Amino acid sequence: MRNFTYTRAESPQEALTLISTHANAKFLGGGTNLVDLMRENIEQPDALIDVTRLPAKGIAESADGGISIGAEVRNTALANHPLIRQRYPLLSQAILFGASGQIRNMATVGGNIMQRTRCYYFYDETSRCNKRKPGSGCDAKEGFNRIHAILGASENCIATHPSDMCVALSALDATVRVDGPRGERTIPFDAFHCLPGDTPHVETTLGANELITSIDLPPLPFARWSRYRKVRDRASYAFALVSVAAAIEIENGRIRNVRLALGGVAPKPWRAYQAEQVLAGAPANLETFRRAADAELSSARGYRYNSFKIELARRTMASVLSELAEAGENQ
Ligand code: SF4
Repeated sequence: MRNFTYTRAESPQEALTLISTHANAKFLGGGTNLVDLMRENIEQPDALIDVTRLPAKGIAESADGGISIGAEVRNTALANHPLIRQRYPLLSQAILFGASGQIRNMATVGGNIMQRTRCYYFYDETSRCNKRKPGSGCDAKEGFNRIHAILGASENCIATHPSDMCVALSALDATVRVDGPRGERTIPFDAFHCLPGDTPHVETTLGANELITSIDLPPLPFARWSRYRKVRDRASYAFALVSVAAAIEIENGRIRNVRLALGGVAPKPWRAYQAEQVLAGAPANLETFRRAADAELSSARGYRYNSFKIELARRTMASVLSELAEAGENQ
């Protein structure tokens, strides 16, 4: 590992000042895999600025009835918070399906959303990887691509985004609040992570030297009827092959409101807008749910080892929506 300086920031202002004084510095929050990547010499910052001591540790109701979550809130605290469990159960479930208890105790919300892909070839310096070294190629396309993307990939990169929590945040229309050299701004969650296109090394729209300060959830009363399901190779400590985050409101047998997002299938948390269009106003039955899944997956492309994900995603979407519809009708 290359030499670097380590500084612990005690305030957001100190963190922003520190990062502006280094040409190649990174913020360090719990939950990011930055240190793993430094050990593999894939990330080589000159300076690490530890932001885990910043005061952004609150979970509070906002004036509009939503919830504001400080960037330094630990994943365990967020998953167990009564407001989250009651109003946004899919978020609580998604977090508890991720990683291990020990990691969730250390992971922060801000660090979690900055995680990078677990593509094997990204971590292997002897492999070609456009994300690690732009223009070098992508060994995953012809390699062992079981965990790779079926939606949103490009010829340059077919990696998936690893976070469970982010899939729920996408479904909930969360907003990322950041502070930086040009002041505060907010980024809609779906615009925070990037698709690879021709620039797979660009993963987020976070600006240079910007610091994530909070994640804000809008009020979404029907999210009380929501669910996160994760399909993976073993029951714990495994990344999703496919995951589904869904919230649904049914009135007189028809779908009045719905939010749907997928994980494990795309380079970013995948908001299922096409499926939502099919679902809106349609009868809440299995036939509708299958049609919605088909619409979302119509552009899916499988590779040698991951084509099974297309049918798996189709069935998981239909199953989760059916379960939620049944539960919603019994409310
Ligand atoms: Fe690199 Fe992306 Fe290809 Fe993986 S899928 S080897 S991260 S370019």
